[in-house]
Amino acid sequence: MARKTDAGQAIAIETITEAELPAGDVTVDVEYSSFNYKDGLALKGMSRILRALPMVPGIDFAGTVRASDNPAFAPGDKVVLTGWGVGENWSGGFAERAKVKGEWLVKLPAGLTPRQAMAIGTAGLTAMLCVDALERYGITEGGDVLVTGAAGGVGSVAVRLLSRLGYKVSALTGRPAEADFLKSLGATDIVDRATYAAAGKPLAGERWHGAVDTVGGTILANVLAATRYGGAVAACGLAAATDLPTTVFPFILRNVALLGVDSVNCPTPRRLAAWTRLGEILTEADFDLVTREVTLEDLPQVAEDIIVGGVRGRTVVRI
Ligand code: NDP
Repeated sequence: MARKTDAGQAIAIETITEAELPAGDVTVDVEYSSFNYKDGLALKGMSRILRALPMVPGIDFAGTVRASDNPAFAPGDKVVLTGWGVGENWSGGFAERAKVKGEWLVKLPAGLTPRQAMAIGTAGLTAMLCVDALERYGITEGGDVLVTGAAGGVGSVAVRLLSRLGYKVSALTGRPAEADFLKSLGATDIVDRATYAAAGKPLAGERWHGAVDTVGGTILANVLAATRYGGAVAACGLAAATDLPTTVFPFILRNVALLGVDSVNCPTPRRLAAWTRLGEILTEADFDLVTREVTLEDLPQVAEDIIVGGVRGRTVVRI
């Protein structure tokens, strides 16, 4: 629970009553949540992620419907929730129980357990939406694609998805020690973050058919400059910076497209299709590769770690 203090906010594990949760029409027994970059910002009181206090943080969760006034859901249904401002302006997933609007829930695709759904979580859904965006633009299997922030949550799932789908995946990372991890996910080439970190030329040698960018800033500008004629970059994150110091040249001389990707308010049909696809593409072995498990007690430390880019892959939170 995050509560307002004179100094800003304080985080503690508390026992509260269901009456203190918002008035959603579906009550879910949460089995797993997960820890995303935005949860790190929220727990540390950064970027005004928590819009109203007190608030249970946790931007995603999966579990079993306990009670429902929504005709689309019945007790016993396995569900997953990501986005829609949950864990930001509506009490979220770091709790045994959540009350939410049924329209925000997705029934778990057949074959996915709540734990697997949270191994994917907001980050993995976003990775899938990035891949979908590249495909819709015509960047298809066999292409040379780059994933930035590759050892993080979105990045590691993106590497795995793209490699499973038959792309030739390069992984840009600032952590050379994660090279073996990234190769185990299917990356064929490791790109040192330093080679893309300094301001470069408006146009560089044409290298990438497509890219998934989770970091923004100068790195994204350099990725755009190195994207081949007609290529596209799906941009979803700001782990490095919120600015984009680029020029119009990649767009007007090379027909490069910058595709914005948001998972929070992603329309439901696209969201459902992405979850179904994630269930089809990823295997049990993939979940084991990208995931570690923590408990609520561990979250303050995980928040410290994720903000400095020190978390590998995905972190599921066992409730
Ligand atoms: P993680 O912290 O797990 O991954 C981010 C990765 O970025 C790090 O692991 C690191 O990878 C790299 N990184 C960190 N700091 C820097 C830096 N200063 N410069 C360059 N690279 C850096 O976070 P998530 O995967 O959960 O989220 C990634 C980004 O995507 C975040 O900005 C998040 O807000 C955003 N996001 C957006 C969503 C949307 O709907 N648009 C949904 C989910 C996430 P490495 O060590 O390999 O270099």
